[in-house]
Amino acid sequence: MKTERIRWYVLLLVCTFIIGRKSTQAQQQTVVQEAHGAGIFNIDLQGNYYFPKDVEFAGNIPSPAKFLGRDIGKFHTRYEQIVQYFKELERKSDRATLDTIGYSWEGRPLIVLKISANKNIQALEQISKEHDEQIDRAKGGRIDIRSDNPAFVFLGFSVHGNESSPAEAALLTAYYLTAGQGSAIEGYLENAVYFIDPVRNPDGYERYVTWVNANSVFPPIGDPLDREHNEAWPGGRTNHYWFDLNRDWINQVHPESKARVSYFQKWLPQIQGDFHEMNAASSFFFEPTKPGAQESIWVPKSTYELNNVFAQYYAAALDTIGSLYYTKEQYDNINPTYGSSYPDHAGSLGILFEQASPRGLLQHTASGELTYPFAIRNHLRIALATIRAAVENRKELQQNQLQFFKSALDLAAKDPIKGYLVDAKYNKRAIEHFVELLRRHQIEFHVNQEDRLIGGQRFEKEQSLWIPTAQANYRLVKVIFDEEKNYIDSVFYDGSGNSLAYLYGFAYAGLRQSIATGSADDIETLWKVNVNWAETNFGYIVDWRQDAAPWLLAQLLQHNVLVKAAGSPFEVSVDKKSVSFDYGSLLIPIAGQGRTADSLKALLQQLGTKGKIIIVPIQTGFSLSGIDLGSNGFKIVKPQNALLLTGQGVRAYEAGEVWYSFERQLEHPLVRVNTEQFGQVNLDRFQVLILVGGEYASLNQNQLDKIRTWTRAGGTLIVFGRTGQWLAEKELASFKFITDKIPTEETKGKQRYTYASAVNRQGAEHIGGTFFKTEVDVTHPVGYGYTRPEKAVFRNHALFVEQGEQPYHNVAIYSKSPLLNGYVSAKNLQRLEGTASILVETNGAGRTIYFVEDPVFRGVSFGNARSFLNAVFFGQIIQRQARR
Ligand SMILES: [Zn+2]
Repeated sequence: MKTERIRWYVLLLVCTFIIGRKSTQAQQQTVVQEAHGAGIFNIDLQGNYYFPKDVEFAGNIPSPAKFLGRDIGKFHTRYEQIVQYFKELERKSDRATLDTIGYSWEGRPLIVLKISANKNIQALEQISKEHDEQIDRAKGGRIDIRSDNPAFVFLGFSVHGNESSPAEAALLTAYYLTAGQGSAIEGYLENAVYFIDPVRNPDGYERYVTWVNANSVFPPIGDPLDREHNEAWPGGRTNHYWFDLNRDWINQVHPESKARVSYFQKWLPQIQGDFHEMNAASSFFFEPTKPGAQESIWVPKSTYELNNVFAQYYAAALDTIGSLYYTKEQYDNINPTYGSSYPDHAGSLGILFEQASPRGLLQHTASGELTYPFAIRNHLRIALATIRAAVENRKELQQNQLQFFKSALDLAAKDPIKGYLVDAKYNKRAIEHFVELLRRHQIEFHVNQEDRLIGGQRFEKEQSLWIPTAQANYRLVKVIFDEEKNYIDSVFYDGSGNSLAYLYGFAYAGLRQSIATGSADDIETLWKVNVNWAETNFGYIVDWRQDAAPWLLAQLLQHNVLVKAAGSPFEVSVDKKSVSFDYGSLLIPIAGQGRTADSLKALLQQLGTKGKIIIVPIQTGFSLSGIDLGSNGFKIVKPQNALLLTGQGVRAYEAGEVWYSFERQLEHPLVRVNTEQFGQVNLDRFQVLILVGGEYASLNQNQLDKIRTWTRAGGTLIVFGRTGQWLAEKELASFKFITDKIPTEETKGKQRYTYASAVNRQGAEHIGGTFFKTEVDVTHPVGYGYTRPEKAVFRNHALFVEQGEQPYHNVAIYSKSPLLNGYVSAKNLQRLEGTASILVETNGAGRTIYFVEDPVFRGVSFGNARSFLNAVFFGQIIQRQARR
């Protein structure tokens, strides 16, 4: 009886436990359903809202909703969940295989899911090999398409991190292709291999998705001013360093773009879809872009014609679900550095898609309610239309690609320029980056084997690079060395000047005849340095013209090494040969270091090898000409602790570029302080304060006075762009701006124009992104290290700054007829001549250094970064000068 009772008791306990568990689960489920239940958007997501009605799915492949345990579109899917889902598809489907093509700065895997019919997946290597062989034959001028070769279709989603509906559409597209049943889908799978790149910028995406999920409410709030729709600075659009990855396809600064371009070039798809979001007030955009004027001269007409063919599929797809759209306006196809335009310049067809963004789950717009599921569905339907269009036009796509490579050689044969010679003597760092970039873009290059003098510029053997134009990627070569100045149109979406060569700032020459060269394998000779030095009791000298010199200086100062900089050139005897050193060259004496000669030598050898920089041991302080090494013309360079203001109002791109420049290029600490914390900063701990472009309205009078006092006491204040104007308004500087407009037909008020012409007429006065020639004073500490007085700058604003009142401090000014590459109106060109590009104003014991243009633009402005790094380290040695 007693055991019987115990048995009952135990049974009762177990039952209670099970029932309890079940009811807790049920309760939880109810909570989830209530919070995120159907009906929050007046859309029935359970009823297969996203897919066309006739699609059937295999039961063994989980849908994204089933895998995630919730409907797509009611939450923002985290990046890790996307990776997990794609892994699940690879596991469950014999149509799919997953590639990890690299890692983001923050260590997230960059994944691409390849989907095709199983027989294609099995034979991918062979298919890829045949594809390569066809392209190679086309390069030789022969076009023959194997009729059964599948097309390669790249679908890239969410490159801007806060454009998340494409990523959700990527999940649904992958599900459609892996689980979809029926003859139509089987046809799509047999005739193409799909490469689904779900999130091109996972770091920014995760920043955004975390924000939206943390701030979303149920039912959703559509007020555009609600927190959910307004991310905290700097937002999720950009990557870890606040760079726009959709401007990095050519430039190749970030691991995300490096991985992507390598992968693109490995497979060479015939088409790449590029899925974005735009502002909430719009509808949906797909190509064609504005015909004629916004099309690149380097892209074959046949590529643009294919845009019109594909547009018919997109129109039909969106017409079916009643979604509004537009084409033939706005977005630009000239600049080759977008995910939609790079393919056009590299043998593929790139297509841009832009969906109005609810920036959250729901936004009220003038055109009604814009929901997240609606945005996702538009992108999904466009992806499905791309799949169908690619298969139905497979041969045309393949023909277009082969024709592209064949015509490249025809164009090169007609081009009077047979190649570009690039000086690498003092730019080893930039050239190494450039060579890696050329490799990733599959551009051929060689080492020049002969000394040449062209237009006054020396190109030394084994110290210069030859890039022939007669090669398959002829068009990419031409955009890198872009010198175009004449355009049909005058209104541009972004920059019109594309020259990467001007950004890099190296000297180059286009030659009308080919030259004999060594092979690309000799490339190491360009940056080989010798650190097996003769013994010295005196010290070492580093020529400041070398582009790694600022990096070396930063390292030496962090190691507490005593360094001096030369205020003028000098010549010394090294191994019985006379060697000349330019302004700013560094002297590292052995005496006075507080460390042994051996330990100094070991440190310099280590740094010289790592930095690929030439360090010269010297035996005497007596110069053959110029200042002796004990002269007061050598100034001690002290460590510089730098502070960058960040936060609301500050231009995140420029702040990110400065951060990237310090951390990755200079390897030097930089403290980043948000403007709201500036009041707590003790400025005496810093020698350099950097204010990039943007709004600093949140700084109060006390804080402005603090900056003024600190500068007068010896600080170096560095400002970019419009911040110079704000500084002048606050009377912290006396920069002057040209505001008297040269009278135009319009301002005279005597002309009559049609209302509709206003957009083009006024747009023509913008400077969207154009290269100009400036003259730099190479004797000024901010101009040290330049090997020639001409310096190209990239300008993306129309702010005209007068030369300063201190006559010795106009470091760089605009030349006469300064246009190098890109569009500018005749009036703006006239305004620019003789205005300032880099200005210094001394103030008490300190100085303000004004960069009218962003000197660290997009992380590849090696040429201009030099003047910025001079400002950081040599600002301290600038002497006060009399006013005019
Ligand atoms: Zn975008």
